[in-house]
Amino acid sequence: MALLRRFKQEHPLWTGSQHWTTGVLTSLLFFASVLFHELSHSVVAQHYKIRVVSITLFLFGGLARIEREPSKAIQEFNIAIAGPLASGFLSVCFFGLTLLFPYSQSVGALASLLGVANGWLAVFNLLPGFPLDGGRIFRAMVWGATKDFEKATRVAGYSGKLIAYTMILLGAYGVFNGFVRLGIWTAFIGWFILNAAQESVAQVAVRETLAGLSAADVMSKEVPTAPGHITLEEYSAEVLRTGRRVHLVVSDDRLVGMMNVHTLNSVPRYEWAHNSVQAAMIPREKILWTSPEEPLLRLLERLLSADVNQMPVVSGVTNGAPQIVGIVTRDSILRVMQTRSELGPLATSR
Ligand SMILES: [Zn+2]
Repeated sequence: MALLRRFKQEHPLWTGSQHWTTGVLTSLLFFASVLFHELSHSVVAQHYKIRVVSITLFLFGGLARIEREPSKAIQEFNIAIAGPLASGFLSVCFFGLTLLFPYSQSVGALASLLGVANGWLAVFNLLPGFPLDGGRIFRAMVWGATKDFEKATRVAGYSGKLIAYTMILLGAYGVFNGFVRLGIWTAFIGWFILNAAQESVAQVAVRETLAGLSAADVMSKEVPTAPGHITLEEYSAEVLRTGRRVHLVVSDDRLVGMMNVHTLNSVPRYEWAHNSVQAAMIPREKILWTSPEEPLLRLLERLLSADVNQMPVVSGVTNGAPQIVGIVTRDSILRVMQTRSELGPLATSR
């Protein structure tokens, strides 16, 4: 809409529909430009056999999520630089069009706006901080020079935060000096970058510490059971006596569900004497399972996204004789992460 107003001011001689079509076309072509930028990342990633999971378009750019981190610094460098190069290329093309069509015509006005927008997209994305392309380029260079992926990620993460805080401060300065809308936008984008920078650093840290581990490595092989007919009062006594927070519920030697402290606490205290474990438990068909081979990182993601604290480990599903061999809890995964990060990079070297 702002675009429409601008066209009306700058080109009073245009007809109403000309304002409108030029405005819509410019917006559509801008989004196409952002898509072109993201697709160019994807093409290079696919060249290295890295699958692109999704492409999201925002108002001020996009984000191509790739399935895994590149395994070599040069790959990351090439994937990252493809986007700004593509935007720069588009910018040059649109400026080329302005030489053929004057600004007073629709095509000329459209081309000059898109030339500027793509130029900005290229420059903004080259800022050297995570999660911007420039941050990835920066990380690739530090990674290539130091051969230390974790360190490079931290450095790029810090510079990303620095850029984010600068943008937030500049935005606030703008707001107090009359550039309200521009200031709010700048601060908002800064805040967005800040979150993304923190998230990508945390993600990499988790990935590093859990690399190479699977459910079998951290599962507890002892799986306590509780009969389904006992009351919640009796169950709580068992929990207090043994300190075990999770039990598989059996009835006539058959597995019927899972019970834990969290589920117990969701029942009001005064109902504990009148309710059985079987009535309150998580029924068998609602339990989420894991296998001994499941990578720990993926398992942790599943635990977090399902908001559960533990998963029984089942082996032999493929040969038709499933058997519960253990249980993995969120705590046990966090303990491994903590221990590994205390012992430092030596212990996690791959
Ligand atoms: Zn990009």
